[in-house]
Amino acid sequence: MLTGQTVIVTGAAQGIGKAVAQKMALNHARVVLCDINDEILQKTVREINDSGGVSEGFKTDVSSMVSVQEITNKVLDKYGSIDILINNAGITRDNLVLRMTEEEWDSVISVNLKGTFNFCHAVAKPMIKKKMGKIINIASIIGLIGNAGQVNYAASKAGVIALTKSLAKELAGRGIRVNAIAPGFIQTAMTDKLSDEIKQQMLQFIPLKSFGKPDDVANTVLYLASDLSSYITGQVVVVDGGMVM
Ligand code: NAP
Repeated sequence: MLTGQTVIVTGAAQGIGKAVAQKMALNHARVVLCDINDEILQKTVREINDSGGVSEGFKTDVSSMVSVQEITNKVLDKYGSIDILINNAGITRDNLVLRMTEEEWDSVISVNLKGTFNFCHAVAKPMIKKKMGKIINIASIIGLIGNAGQVNYAASKAGVIALTKSLAKELAGRGIRVNAIAPGFIQTAMTDKLSDEIKQQMLQFIPLKSFGKPDDVANTVLYLASDLSSYITGQVVVVDGGMVM
């Protein structure tokens, strides 16, 4: 489905990003995995290549515009184009607003929102030149509905949604589609941190009565990255078992 296309996936060492990278490789794309955690990143790259995929990994801090530009240049030098960008890297630093530190606010905004901007900024020029491209940003339902204890995370993800819609308008005339996915509760390291009590409480609000899997998000990414969604841009696809309707 994606033969000959070059894909960048951020936060790709584990969780949703890993499932997305695997899905892209399975569909014959060349996959560039970026993550701050180099050890797990290289393990994931080996797993993908050992199962017949074509991938390589770059240790990246998405919040650094300089390093994002350097990696983008390396990928362009090697493969000539970047066809699909998936901005998935994200962190949480939860706290109630009265206790939230400047560092907790700044780090979440820097990784989740500025990191998404940095890669969009870096790939926009080569995509415009080629008059084609797809950008998929991983937001969250928390960016749509908010959550106590997550003002930083909710603001970052609402920002990602607003960025997605603005960029979609800016780039539609250049043949580039920009969409976002808003996952609900997906089972990864990010949600493993939550207590069993909180998990049971959350389950009550999920009409489909189960937590999502990274592959549920990866399948939606594949749809938005492929020509099956060629008339869709500026949208937020909610993948949450029916929590937000
Ligand atoms: P995860 O398991 O924690 O994986 C995220 C990966 O991103 C980790 O390898 C992490 O490395 C890496 N990362 C952190 N900071 C980075 C940076 N500055 N530059 C590059 N990579 C960085 O998270 P996940 O649950 O798969 O979440 C993936 C995305 O989905 C995030 O944007 C998240 O907000 C979103 N999302 C997740 C859920 C969910 O329920 N899991 C729901 C809604 C939205 P370290 O482990 O070293 O930090």
